[in-house]
Amino acid sequence: MVQSSILGFPRMGRLRDLKKANEAYWGGKLSRDELLAEGKRLRLAHWQIQKDAGVDVIPSNDFAFYDHVLDHIQMFNAAPERYTKHGLEPIDEYFAMGRGHQKDGIDVPSLEMVKWFDSNYHYVKPTLQDNQTFKLAANPKPVREFLEAKEAGIATRPVLLGPVSFLALGKADRDQTVEPITLLEKLLPVYEQLLKQLKEAGAETVQIDEPVLVFDLPSKVKDAFKPAYEKLTAAAGPQIVLATYFGDIVHNLDVVDAALKNVHALHVDLVRNPEQLQQVIEHLGPKQVLSAGVVDGRNIWKTNFKRAIELVETAVQKLGKDRVIVASSSSLLHTPHTLESEKNLPSEVRDWFAFASEKAVEVAIIAKAVTNGPDSVREQLSANAQSMQARASSSRTNDPKVKERQSQVTAEMHNRQSEFTTRYAQQKEHLKLPMFPTTTIGSFPQTKEIRISRNKFVKGEITAEEYEKFIEKEIQDVVKIQDELNLDVYVHGEPERNDMVQYFGERLEGYVFTTHAWVQSYGSRCVRPPIIVGDISRPAPMTVKESKYAASISSKPMKGMLTGPITCLRWSFPRDDVHQSIQAQQLALALRDEVVDLEAAGIYVIQVDEPALREGLPLRSGKEREAYLSWAVDSFKLSTAGVKDSTQIHSHFCYSEFQDFFHAISALDADVLSIENSKSDAKLLKVFIDEAYPRHIGPGVYDIHSPRVPSEQEIKDRLAEMLQYLKPEQLWVNPDCGLKTRQWKETKEALTNMVNAAIAYRQKY
Ligand code: GLN
Ligand code: ZN
Repeated sequence: MVQSSILGFPRMGRLRDLKKANEAYWGGKLSRDELLAEGKRLRLAHWQIQKDAGVDVIPSNDFAFYDHVLDHIQMFNAAPERYTKHGLEPIDEYFAMGRGHQKDGIDVPSLEMVKWFDSNYHYVKPTLQDNQTFKLAANPKPVREFLEAKEAGIATRPVLLGPVSFLALGKADRDQTVEPITLLEKLLPVYEQLLKQLKEAGAETVQIDEPVLVFDLPSKVKDAFKPAYEKLTAAAGPQIVLATYFGDIVHNLDVVDAALKNVHALHVDLVRNPEQLQQVIEHLGPKQVLSAGVVDGRNIWKTNFKRAIELVETAVQKLGKDRVIVASSSSLLHTPHTLESEKNLPSEVRDWFAFASEKAVEVAIIAKAVTNGPDSVREQLSANAQSMQARASSSRTNDPKVKERQSQVTAEMHNRQSEFTTRYAQQKEHLKLPMFPTTTIGSFPQTKEIRISRNKFVKGEITAEEYEKFIEKEIQDVVKIQDELNLDVYVHGEPERNDMVQYFGERLEGYVFTTHAWVQSYGSRCVRPPIIVGDISRPAPMTVKESKYAASISSKPMKGMLTGPITCLRWSFPRDDVHQSIQAQQLALALRDEVVDLEAAGIYVIQVDEPALREGLPLRSGKEREAYLSWAVDSFKLSTAGVKDSTQIHSHFCYSEFQDFFHAISALDADVLSIENSKSDAKLLKVFIDEAYPRHIGPGVYDIHSPRVPSEQEIKDRLAEMLQYLKPEQLWVNPDCGLKTRQWKETKEALTNMVNAAIAYRQKY
């Protein structure tokens, strides 16, 4: 029989229960025991949902309080000493690594957090020492959670991140030089022990994720698979299902031949890369099982059953029913909990979606259709076919006016009027900024009052006018605070924005938005991506009112704040029926109108955030990547190039690793780039001198993910490091990113130190 399986389930719970519990615990309002109990309640609920859906193979250890990679760091006793030396409770040490700890005389920043492959989820980077050792924690989490499920009568398949990926996704700690993959020998015994313990606990199979197999791997990493999996398959543990996702593994199939012959099953993502099926099958050993990922773990569209079944049938014909598993393409972590919570979606559109709980039902139906024939699920198949048909022919998906405008886009529309030097001369004259100008990235703390007021407005408890007054008052407050802080380029603080993408989605045609469809971004932070269902256009200005008001009450330049086309696209659930480049161009045209309207309203500094540009990079270099960069850069330029030379275009990125695609960053032609840098190596800025980058850059001088306040000296030191790589006249001074998740107290303290550091530098130069 063909089994059904899920690779991982979202952790937050139906009402973001985990977020609430974590934050209550951090705020001292929930005890440690209560937090742990809430975790258990959520795990049990999620297993039950999958069981009720009829899923045969249900994952465990997919739950994490903060991040699953961080779970592994702690389970392997691979936490750097700066966290372990305080004797904190394990859960507190865990959160200290995830979010920093500044309490009871302990002051330690968090570990670096970076995007998980090309998703909007962030994982905590394993940070390793030259003399790193590993030791399995007593009563390790995967065993504990497997037993917890078992006790509740649910047999699960524990999920582990594989040793090669764990190391390859890690890095040497600051001041260390170790190449993580060279630690493999030391790490494997821990996996062997863990597998043994899982087996003893009764686990029959274990899912080991090696998603790095979708990358172009350096040979050292590639060669690590053979010794690793020879050891692990010999470890007398459960049978291993090796999982890859978010890409194809065709270019690494020699690894499958050399190293993976003894694993029980191989999982591949057939949503992204259905064409790899044939070749993957050919590389399977005579008994190996294929786990066919045909239900999209990254998007919210209903699975096209007909297509999925055909794909699975192809595998079944070659391998037989017992050697095929129907699965989600990846963990469902990237999808919202359940469609059932959505009460406000137009019913036409609602019928096109499946969230995590519905996807669990889908894998079960597909498996049943293949096992027992289509008749066994006749009704579900015909309902699905109808829904596919309705979406394809709906008038919502097609707007002739948008298509018409796209057909008129010309090459010149992508370019500014003059070169940077000419532009800068005018901007200098116009904006009159000091050396080392200070600014922030856009948002200021989203306080409880802001959220309450927004909620009241959404619920109709206050009028639009009252809400507008409230927002104006907020803007007045942040302008005043920026006066006090003595910043140079102001922002209006984004109090009216629930989220940097959702806010725009709600103001554009072609989008629908949800009420409960949250997905985890990092730790307790969730986002609710709007959904692109059809052609996109802008019916009216989206941000002009607030920016104009802010500019009218401030004495310094006010920066207008927009989310760029690629970020709007990437942080939405995109359509899967037209190419993303078409969706990006539609967004760019809508934003272009907004940029021009802002300028006309007297806003002469405009920041178009594109933090998602890099995560959209196809995971492998080569043709596909260049094609993406070309349409992505074009869409940014199309959205920003409509302004005069004297208007300064900023862009913002939440990272500073540009080496792989520097030409594209440069091609954006933004006058100023602000980038994350405080937790990265300042050396990453070297690329800017190497490439003689002429424009201006504000590498973040402090981390905004944690409440920790950087001292003035720390910021000065950071600036000194930056000046090894950037010219003084190029350097802006700003935090890593927006401040919306922070409290006011630490925000003011940190910005005071930042401004003082900039002033001190002005005096020096
Ligand atoms: N302007 C946005 C803010 O400050 C940028 C956020 C981001 O880059 N993620 O909140
Ligand atoms: Zn950012």
